[in-house]
Amino acid sequence: MSTTKEIKRIYELQSDPKNVLSLRNSSHQDRIAKIKSIYNYILHEGNHRTIAEALYKDLRKSNEEVITTEMTPVILTIKEVCKKLKQWMKDEHVPSPITMVGMSSFIKYESKGNILIIGPWNYPFQLTIYPLVYAIAAGNTAIIKPSEFSSHTAKALNIMIKALFDENEVAVIEGGVPEATELLKLPFNHIHFTGSPKVGKIIMEAAAKNLTAVTLELGGKSPVIIDGTTNINSTAEKVCWGKTLNSGQTCIAPDFAIVHEWAHQKFVEGFKIACEKFYNAENKGIDQSNDYGRIINDSNFDRVNELLEDAKEKGAKIEFGGKVEKGDKYIQPTLLTNVNKNMKVMQDEIFGPILPVITYKNKEEVVELLNTYPSPLALYIMSNKKEAIDYFLNNTVAGGTCINELMLTSVNPHLPFGGVNNSGVGKTGGKHSFMDFSNQRGVIKRKFGNSLKLIYPPFNKNIFKYFQKVIKI
Ligand code: NAD
Repeated sequence: MSTTKEIKRIYELQSDPKNVLSLRNSSHQDRIAKIKSIYNYILHEGNHRTIAEALYKDLRKSNEEVITTEMTPVILTIKEVCKKLKQWMKDEHVPSPITMVGMSSFIKYESKGNILIIGPWNYPFQLTIYPLVYAIAAGNTAIIKPSEFSSHTAKALNIMIKALFDENEVAVIEGGVPEATELLKLPFNHIHFTGSPKVGKIIMEAAAKNLTAVTLELGGKSPVIIDGTTNINSTAEKVCWGKTLNSGQTCIAPDFAIVHEWAHQKFVEGFKIACEKFYNAENKGIDQSNDYGRIINDSNFDRVNELLEDAKEKGAKIEFGGKVEKGDKYIQPTLLTNVNKNMKVMQDEIFGPILPVITYKNKEEVVELLNTYPSPLALYIMSNKKEAIDYFLNNTVAGGTCINELMLTSVNPHLPFGGVNNSGVGKTGGKHSFMDFSNQRGVIKRKFGNSLKLIYPPFNKNIFKYFQKVIKI
């Protein structure tokens, strides 16, 4: 069967009204049982190994990195959902205004129906399974289209989903742009997309044709401001970790650093020390470290390498790193100074292990520079001065901010996670995700009386007096 026919077959199976209704009216116990089956699957040693091997083949992620950045976020999401789902699914009673005397009001959370999840390649397990968990929690069906670039993980995901779900509930369509394009023609009730702003626009345009709701988890240039009032070695270590995790291929990685001039040299030294400590403790070379990953594919290697070459040509100074090995898709953690906005590395999202560092003299300069970029997914402030923190918070816009920490904007399920315009549309995490995948139906119930008679025709000539009384109350 052609992929187009196969996609249509699964979509029709999932969108069968009886199927949708039965999932919509399913109990929290039913949904939790399905979600727990994912939990049990990934905790099984053999399954864990299969997924970890796939991630190693795709991104050379070590098993430890798979545990911390791919599995644990999913496990924690599942635990949170299992704890809270019963409460989230309850009708939420809200107050009614005086004009509605005798009536009660509540929000009924009902499933949207059929969800399409399109995933990226950088955290290909976590970023497809966490939205799936919330889609199931809200009583939906789902089709997952993982990234074709992380094809080993896509295969492992397909095996897992086939083992756990009937395809009328959850299915995986492997493939790339042609498959995604076919899927986007169908009138899904919601599309959850994680990827680049460029493709995000294609998704939103396709969704508009069916008036499908979207959540777009996008990227961009997330800056880190370092004003020099914190412990610089510890700050440099945090930045080095955020920048080099998964070889810099993380949507919330610090893209570039903007450092107060008096702390600049200490920061550069601290970054070098941290890189050596993380990946070269035995002095065998960073490329020999089991804990340092690789660039996903040749085209992304070429893209990141081109950013580096362009910066070098235009006068950037390599303070650390700079070694690349195309055959191995290896790019050494690299720190650049003497950079400016004419360089591509200061224009496009880097999504690789290169950190350009800019210096500043006064905080107004920082805001002026940052406000020339679209609002980022994350903005990091490393400062111990309340006045400076408040200034940066109040004069910039970002999807999320960490103060004196990095990479945590997506971790707390009580906080909304997501971008702003170019860095994303919609917010996820915890109840935010449950609501995102639910239709929030407003329900009004008359309990006693019939106060609205007052405004029925023929119109009461004293209506103005009546309104004056209502306004006073
Ligand atoms: P991408 O946009 O190239 O691809 C993402 C998905 O879209 C893939 O499944 C791909 O097959 C599909 N796709 C690509 N072109 C398409 C087209 N023309 N029509 C339909 N579908 C298409 O993104 P990527 O390279 O996988 O990921 C990198 C980007 O994702 C970065 O910008 C990064 O910041 C962002 N990202 C964001 C988050 C977040 O949570 N906000 C998380 C991870 C990555």
